[in-house]
Amino acid sequence: MPGEDLRAALGASGELATAGLGTVLTQLGEQVRSGAEAVAVRDHYLEVFDQLRERFLPAHVSVKLTHLGLDVGREACSNHVLALAAKAREEGSFLWIDMEESRYVDATLEIYRRARAAGAGVGVCLQAYLQRTPQDLTALLPLAPAIRLVKGAYNESADVALRRKKDVDAQYFTLAVRLLDAAATGRATAVFGTHDLRLLERIGEQGVARGAGGRYEVHMLYGIRTAEQRALVAAGMKVRVLISYGSHWFAWYMRRLAERPANVWFVIRSLF
Ligand SMILES: Cc1cc2nc3c(=O)[nH]c(=O)nc-3n(C[C@H](O)[C@H](O)[C@H](O)COP(=O)(O)OP(=O)(O)OC[C@H]3O[C@@H](n4cnc5c(N)ncnc54)[C@H](O)[C@@H]3O)c2cc1C
Repeated sequence: MPGEDLRAALGASGELATAGLGTVLTQLGEQVRSGAEAVAVRDHYLEVFDQLRERFLPAHVSVKLTHLGLDVGREACSNHVLALAAKAREEGSFLWIDMEESRYVDATLEIYRRARAAGAGVGVCLQAYLQRTPQDLTALLPLAPAIRLVKGAYNESADVALRRKKDVDAQYFTLAVRLLDAAATGRATAVFGTHDLRLLERIGEQGVARGAGGRYEVHMLYGIRTAEQRALVAAGMKVRVLISYGSHWFAWYMRRLAERPANVWFVIRSLF
């Protein structure tokens, strides 16, 4: 994180913009317990879109639905998403919807469908580790969706998710090729959210072979593979960096570590 508050994230977004990188801003937080908290989160993001416009920043916003009150009430949460997507369109920005634990996938996709039916400027994340994702992609493609494909970050059981990294990587590649085909004919907006450079190389080869070269973006996290992010931009790739900010970072980080012990190893390696 560049810092705890929105100002630090906006500053980092400006610096990255001068180096040719776009950004996606997200405030840390999830699973709010009251409607009032969810309204405050929605209002915060409405303010973020205003700030992006005032500073002419080429930035998007990404939200978690449980941060916007999904556990409190699906209808209100859906309305918050519709309001944010409309604001994103109005400001020439874009709203991304994160994908959380597997128990939220149906609700997330249903809310995404509503938001997409109301207009463009909104995309959803799909997780390659879930066994259901190939079917979810098939069901979404008729909407001309914007999809950010990731491997998946939560500790899911074997009945819903692939457990071996090798299998997740293989499913990611298969899904990526399907997304490239859709992107090549304008039937989808494709984003690959990964730091796996070998995978990106293979996706790049397929992109060229399938006429989707230059028709997709790569998104990575702030502070991870920074030199490679810039090298991709230098090679002509559209790259965005996801910047998290917020005072809940410690609790959020500890939850992520507890959920997926492999993340501890990433942290240790990133220190050296
Ligand atoms: C833009 C973006 C949005 C995301 N949104 C979601 C979402 O909505 N839902 C969701 O479930 N997951 C999301 N994720 C997380 C994703 O699911 C993976 O857990 C994460 O990206 C690590 O997988 P990888 O694809 O980078 O590949 P891996 O094979 O896990 O990693 C490849 C290499 O990248 C480096 N690396 C990866 N992660 C880290 C790290 N944290 N610290 C240091 N080095 C690292 C390591 O060198 C590693 O060997 C998102 C990721 C990105 C980049």
